[in-house]
Parts: sequence; C-alpha cells; structure tokens
Amino acid sequence: MKKINWRQFLGFLLIALALNLYSCSNKEQPAQNNVVNDITQLNPIKVQGIVSPVSTRELIDLVKRHKGAISIGGGRFSMGGQTATENAIQIDMRRFNHIVSFSKEKKEITVQAGIRWRTLIQFIDQYDLSVKIMQTYANFTVGGSLSVNVHGRYVGQGPIILSVKSIKVVLANGDLIEASPSQNQEIFNAIIGGYGGIGIIAEATLSLTDNCKVERIDTVMKIGAYSQFFQKSIRNNKKVIFHNADIYPNGFDEVRAISYLETNKHLTIKDRLKPNDGGYAFNRMAIDIVSGSKFGKWLRKRIGNPIYYRKNIVEWRNYEATYDVKELEPRSRQTSTYVLQEYFVPIEKFDSFYPKMNRILKQHKVNVINISIRHAKKIQVQ
Ligand SMILES: Cc1cc2nc3c(=O)[nH]c(=O)nc-3n(C[C@H](O)[C@H](O)[C@H](O)COP(=O)(O)OP(=O)(O)OC[C@H]3O[C@@H](n4cnc5c(N)ncnc54)[C@H](O)[C@@H]3O)c2cc1C
Repeated sequence: MKKINWRQFLGFLLIALALNLYSCSNKEQPAQNNVVNDITQLNPIKVQGIVSPVSTRELIDLVKRHKGAISIGGGRFSMGGQTATENAIQIDMRRFNHIVSFSKEKKEITVQAGIRWRTLIQFIDQYDLSVKIMQTYANFTVGGSLSVNVHGRYVGQGPIILSVKSIKVVLANGDLIEASPSQNQEIFNAIIGGYGGIGIIAEATLSLTDNCKVERIDTVMKIGAYSQFFQKSIRNNKKVIFHNADIYPNGFDEVRAISYLETNKHLTIKDRLKPNDGGYAFNRMAIDIVSGSKFGKWLRKRIGNPIYYRKNIVEWRNYEATYDVKELEPRSRQTSTYVLQEYFVPIEKFDSFYPKMNRILKQHKVNVINISIRHAKKIQVQ
C-alpha cells in the first residue's frame, strides 16, 4: 500500500494573539446585505445569498440544484475569509446542528457538522464522557474544526483527524458518501484539513473518552529552558491531559508552562462546565489593560498572573474544555479587533526560532496579547 506522508507536523504550534487597531462597522453581526465576515471583521465578502439547511436531504438538493460556486460557513472563526467566496452562495451550517446517534458503551457520537462543541459537550457530560481532541474554545462547529484539522492542548493526541471514526460527505455532484480511515481513504484524508474544497462534511462520528478530574500545575521559566522542560516532564507524561506555555510580551523571554494532570483529588471547582452566561466583564477589562500599554503587560506578568495561578485548582476535564470566545471580545469593535496566527516549528528548531520571532515582533511593534505554545504530534496517514 502506498504511504502518504500527510502534514507530518512534529513540533511546537505557536498561537499568537495580537491586537489590531482599525476602524470597522460593528462586531459579530448576522450577515447584512449578504455580506459575510469572520470574527476579525476584517474580511467582508459579498455573496450571492445565504442558505441554512437543516437536513442532509436539503444539503444534497442544494448542491445538485445550484449551478455556480458554493462556500461553507461554520462558526466563521477562521481568520482570512475562508468561509465565503465572492458572489457564491454560502451554506451556513449553524442550524444543521443535531446529535444523530450516541453510544456510551462504544464511547462514540455521531453529529451533524454544524453543531458547536459546547452543545456536544453539554450532552456527553451527562454520561461522564469528554471530547478527545478539540480547540481551547467551545464555540467552533465540528465541521469547521474538521475542515481545518485543528489541534488542541491535549498532550500526545495530535490533530483532530485522529479522533474521527467516519464522516458523511456531500461531494460537488451531490453524491453522499461515507469516508473513514479504511473506506474512501483518500477523500477522508483530503477533506479533513481541506477547508471545504472537496465537499461538505454533513455528519461526523467521533471517538470520545472518559471525563476525569484534572489538577492545574504551573511553573515560570526562561524561554531557553522550555524545550528541555517539555521533553523531560510533559511529552511522555501520561498524566498530563492539557498543556500549553504562554510567552510573556513584551520581553518574550519568560514563559509560564501550564499543565492539567489527571487526579483523584477533591474538586476545588464543582461546576461541571464553565457558565454560559456571557458575563465576561472582568476578562474584557483585563484584555483592555494588557493590550493598552507596556505597563498593562507588566501588570499581567508580575501581579495578575501570580494571583490567578497562586492555587492549584482541581476541576473537571469538561470544565476546562468549555471556554467561550466571548471572553476575548474587545470592549469596542469600533476601533479594534484581535487576530490570531499559528506557526508550526520543529522542536529542535524552537531555540533558534524564538529569537528571530522576538526580533520581528519588536521591530514592528506588534501589540501581542499572548503567545501560546502547544505540541503538535507527528501523524502518518496511510
Ligand atoms: C479565539 C480563537 C482560538 C482558536 N484556537 C485554536 C486552537 O486552539 N487550535 C486550532 O487548531 N485552531 C484554533 N483556532 C482556529 C479555529 O479553530 C478554526 O478557524 C476553526 O475552523 C473554527 O471553526 P469554525 O466552526 O468557526 O469554522 P469556520 O471558520 O466557519 O470554517 C473554517 C473552514 O472550514 C470550512 N467548513 C466549515 N464547515 C464545513 C463543513 N461542514 N464541511 C466542509 N467545510 C466546512 C469553511 O469553508 C472554512 O474553510 C482559534 C480561533 C480563534 C478565533
């Protein structure tokens, strides 16, 4: 059998969140005059029309009937206009969002692709189960996440494709096919990470894992020590569920390594999921302060974070998996937005990469709010 080396990522994934000053109309609005935008509000795209199917049949009919180009929108959190094409129709997947089937015994769930992680987790939490691999925030749709083959903070788990049992896909001719690591393999490998270029993911069957209690442990170190720390203490530690390390702006010379280890200790946070009430005034104020000045960044590093991390909290895995993107929302979208970029760096190149990165960030006076290092495991798809 021919082996395809497909996106062999082995290394650190750096997720940088930066603030951009600009002038724009408004924040996350429903499409107006058929203009689709993403979370940055920097990429308005005029489409021919927007349709919101609620069944696979509708999805198929739509693809068969429509003569021109089709684009697909999930949660629209990808940054760069990937969800819309000028004068094409956009299929808005967000109402195609039901649970199709579930087996506690098999630890698997089949969902329509427009479902958001939050809804899915709310359901499986009742059965003490968790998502194996997803991003930090729970607002994204499953289809959008599969389409970009996301990574999370899960140590040793790799990209989301490794938790997918099978998918149902509507191809450009309207055919509905099933694809998995063993059936229609090439389509499976092309569509996950394919940004909607091959077809529409209608349904996905995902492997689940047990929900468990996790204890947060953190440590601050010079950035030069991080690579070795990761290899020695985190990479092969089976107890570590989540891990990331934040590089502090504006010096970019210190990191806080944060790990969540499986534990039997008593919970310090009893809630099973993070509240979904949108009350993020404190987070927004903190972002205002950190993004507002060098002093704000110093305050975060020297005062805010030492207080925030003073205790090793114990919480549910599902609690840690249900962050809401709203906590990042700038107080005003009239003059600012945030933009996130991701870079994949081989572990052995990290120590030569970060000094160059620091130089560029300083030279261009980038207003970096945070840089988060995660590990992206090497995968080989046959
Ligand atoms: C605050 C923030 C944090 C983030 N953190 C992470 C992270 O930790 N790890 C990570 O990997 N990424 C991260 N991202 C990036 C984000 O995970 C991806 O952009 C993800 O695709 C968002 O899902 P979505 O539902 O918004 O997809 P969308 O942005 O709506 O769509 C993404 C792509 O998928 C296509 N698509 C959507 N649905 C389907 C479908 N059903 N069938 C076929 N194609 C489809 C779209 O056409 C588009 O090309 C983050 C983004 C933000 C804003």
